[in-house]
Amino acid sequence: MGGKQAQQLDGHLVLRDVATNQFSDVTGIHRFVLPQDAAVPKQMYERGNRSLFAYRRGELLIPELGGRVTILPLGWDFDRGTIIDRPLFTARSSDATVFFDGSHLLSYDGDYWSSLNHELSREQDIYFGFVDKDRQLWTVQDAVELTKLIGWGVWENLEPQSIRSVWSVLPDNGRQLLFTDHGVYPLHHNEVGERLREGNFFFGLKDGSSGYWAPVDDQFLLHCQDRPQGFVCDRKLPMSRVMGLGQSADGSRLWIVSDDGLFELMESDGSSPVLATDDKGKALDKPSGALAMRDDGTPWAAIGGALYRRGSDGHWVKAVTHWPNSRDFSPMTMAFSSHDDLWVGGLRARAGLLHLTLEGARVAHIEQIDPGRTGSPIVFSLLADSHRRLWVGTENGLAAYDGQQWVRLTKDDGLISANINQQGLTEDHDGTIWVTTTRGVSHLMHPEHFFEKTALNPVFVQVRLGDHLLPEKAVPFSRDPLMVTLGSLNTALAPTTYFRYRLEGVDQSWIKTTTGEIRYNFVPPGHSRLVVQAINDNRNLISRPIILEIRMQRPWWATWPLIAVYVISVVAVPYALTRFRFRYLVKRQRRLEALVDERTREMRAAQDALEQQARQDGLTRLMNRRTAEASAKRLLEKLARPDYDGEYRSATLALFDVDYFKAINDTFGHMIGDEILAGIGSRLLRDKKPDEIIGRYGGEEFLIVIHGDAHASHARVALLLAALSETPFETKVGALTIGCSAGIARTSPEESWADTLERADQALYQAKLEGRGRMIVSERDRDDGDYPG
Ligand code: GH3
Ligand code: MG
Ligand code: MG
Repeated sequence: MGGKQAQQLDGHLVLRDVATNQFSDVTGIHRFVLPQDAAVPKQMYERGNRSLFAYRRGELLIPELGGRVTILPLGWDFDRGTIIDRPLFTARSSDATVFFDGSHLLSYDGDYWSSLNHELSREQDIYFGFVDKDRQLWTVQDAVELTKLIGWGVWENLEPQSIRSVWSVLPDNGRQLLFTDHGVYPLHHNEVGERLREGNFFFGLKDGSSGYWAPVDDQFLLHCQDRPQGFVCDRKLPMSRVMGLGQSADGSRLWIVSDDGLFELMESDGSSPVLATDDKGKALDKPSGALAMRDDGTPWAAIGGALYRRGSDGHWVKAVTHWPNSRDFSPMTMAFSSHDDLWVGGLRARAGLLHLTLEGARVAHIEQIDPGRTGSPIVFSLLADSHRRLWVGTENGLAAYDGQQWVRLTKDDGLISANINQQGLTEDHDGTIWVTTTRGVSHLMHPEHFFEKTALNPVFVQVRLGDHLLPEKAVPFSRDPLMVTLGSLNTALAPTTYFRYRLEGVDQSWIKTTTGEIRYNFVPPGHSRLVVQAINDNRNLISRPIILEIRMQRPWWATWPLIAVYVISVVAVPYALTRFRFRYLVKRQRRLEALVDERTREMRAAQDALEQQARQDGLTRLMNRRTAEASAKRLLEKLARPDYDGEYRSATLALFDVDYFKAINDTFGHMIGDEILAGIGSRLLRDKKPDEIIGRYGGEEFLIVIHGDAHASHARVALLLAALSETPFETKVGALTIGCSAGIARTSPEESWADTLERADQALYQAKLEGRGRMIVSERDRDDGDYPG
């Protein structure tokens, strides 16, 4: 072969001198030479649009436009004979390189290669891959199907086939130990090695030298050493359910929190662990859940319902006698993020996470962290990393706090599963974080990414008014619905980004959409502005507003010349009539009156449509919340006036909430959720009696007000509830049955609307607690003898 070949490099054309392996771009400015023994896959040229690379024995060479050639060690050899016909590509972000060798998608993070564990079943059909500006990796299969690999370059996920439950990861000497329910395994460059020892190993702590302490089988604490001849365990202490371990700085003492209490072990002299004692000499033998070491070397532990710290005399002193807001808070995990910041997580507290601010040896302040920040009121594990960031593991994913802001990470960010284990968070020597979950292990390679501020970039994907695609200069008057589709150009955050919008002059407040679909049944003529913002709560991001200007011509009967005609016809014409009394004028006046009447009717119809729009919920066609509440209040005012018998009357107020509706959205998508909501709306409208008030109260909550005696209206509520749950709803994915719960309260002239509503809401909550799919009457009305339970 001789001459020049044209090839592509990052979308630019480069010319290769085949004889010398020299490359230059068409301007000749960027030149580079590949080693003589490097081979360039032939199909780069033949199949076109891929980034250029070459390989030689054991190395991958990636030229860059600046003229540099990056050499990545492959660690394995190509069989040049077999790869030559396969599609190959490389793609790079600032964090990692991905390489497709024709059958495997491999990722290089600067240290070593790992096979990408993603859900493409037919990897060999990958045709091409690229990295977008948000560092997201996309692959193209069969040249048509586009797939995004969530979390690539930031996470590595491990789902070892042979291991059921990995409880925790202990980084050690450039490798990791996996503590699992059936033994300890070494992990080396993401490869699981031979089992080191059998047993249900919960977690491990490195001792002062080359050994580990590890609780096993919920009954023992083992001391083991990793020797050439194997994983040798030389001590076995009976100790039930060890939940935490801590070690003094010099490695001479070990503190153990277990179901039997808090123990102290002198490691040097081989003695047995002894129960720790408080300052009155009393043994600390209550079950204890968590222990953390302060940076001055003092251990702090949660024992029974209190928090203790170890005093300099060796006795333990109470630092917190009871936890705020909860008697039976049980801490499961603790961590110091700095000398004076102690975090305690656990369950059965209103907030599963407490932030204790210390002053010297004293707890100065306890802050309860809102579960909205961490994603759950139950905290399984805490980690304070070397960058003073706090990591919080819950059953709803991972949360992190850098001292300023909270962020949340879920499966949408690349986490393998949202259910984080107790002892599930550890930091490696390189600052990466290991996360064990009920489904496998996630390795967070770039924890810092999640605190970066990025733009959400909302866009109008499509805007449609009837047949008109907006924006246009101005559209003719139309009663067609306005349909808008929104999107976010941020590919990394799109799955967790939602939008809020407001049509100025129509909406009083912002409306939220998670699907990005907006619909207005009717847009008022004239100039309107639709304002939209994208929001990502997990990253505390809100975009700048984007604005859609809609210009719709006014209908002909609402234009100024015509308004003048109306005025003339109702004022000037009668005046002329009385002056001149011409009969033909009388006739003309009648004609004009008829015309005005007709136009007035038309105007009123349009007006009605607008009002309807303002009162109705677009999806369910039921009254919206504001209107339903206003009607209900009007009804109550009427009922509060005594009737002809001098009796006050009352009504029944019911709140319906669909059960597990999130699951429907999660399983079938929001579109199907919406279909069901629309179905609920039409079913309720079908069954509604003229004097009943039924409105959409919130997302999947409905407000129903029925007046009449308690028995009858109670039965009506039961009937409406049954109508929703007894017959399935037809949707695009087939018939779906839903459950629904209801809370009921009886109104009375003495009680405010808000209070009655509150009682109905409490009853609803009760119905949820008692297993859903039922209706519960507010406690107060149950006491009332004439009310059936
Ligand atoms: P339960 O009430 O039984 O405790 O469970 P749930 O899943 O219904 O929980 P919750 O009532 O808190 O959640 C309601 C969900 O309804 C949350 C939201 O995603 C969804 N939702 C709210 N409005 C809409 C909507 O307009 N369309 C769709 N598809 N989903 C909605
Ligand atoms: Mg709800
Ligand atoms: Mg619900």
